[in-house]
Amino acid sequence: MDGVSLSSTKTWISRDYSRCSGCRRCEIACSLHHEGVIWPEASRVRVFMLVPGAEVPHLCAQCDDYPCVKSCPFEALSVDDKTGAVIVDREKCTACGICINACPGRIPHLHPRDGYVLICDLCGGDPQCVKVCQEGKWDALRLVREMPQTWQLYTTKLYARTPEDITRDLVKILFGEASEGMI
Ligand code: SF4
Ligand code: SF4
Repeated sequence: MDGVSLSSTKTWISRDYSRCSGCRRCEIACSLHHEGVIWPEASRVRVFMLVPGAEVPHLCAQCDDYPCVKSCPFEALSVDDKTGAVIVDREKCTACGICINACPGRIPHLHPRDGYVLICDLCGGDPQCVKVCQEGKWDALRLVREMPQTWQLYTTKLYARTPEDITRDLVKILFGEASEGMI
């Protein structure tokens, strides 16, 4: 990383669902960073447990074509050209929910108190959720940075999917034949 400014490098958070413990430290770190309090409902990453024992950390996948950004009639969403994160303009967002429906993973969600939508902003390039997941030695969330003059980031990104779809695949990995009919 010598000579590379981390704050101006395109960043993505990879996720290994089979390693998630469901500890929810990522939700705590996110809400502390953005809201100043422990408030999972206001976290940009939410951990779903649709089947006991199969936890799914769910957050923006930074689609190459950013359908949420394109769908917003109020131009409240934009892409940070340094990190690649979706940035929400709180003043312009009307909480209409159009971006939620446009997202293939239905990942944006409304702030539980204020009138705007929540989408991971990568903490400006230094995501706090990844730090705590790594501290916990779970390694479910990992930072991927685009190296200059390569397209490494784009060969490792996942497409946005719903928690239901992700869980369906995860229970097969975790429970094998016993997963039949779990979701
Ligand atoms: S911090 Fe890591 S292990 Fe804990 S819930 Fe979040 S993703 Fe899962
Ligand atoms: S994952 Fe959803 S919120 Fe993130 S860029 Fe894609 S459409 Fe937008």
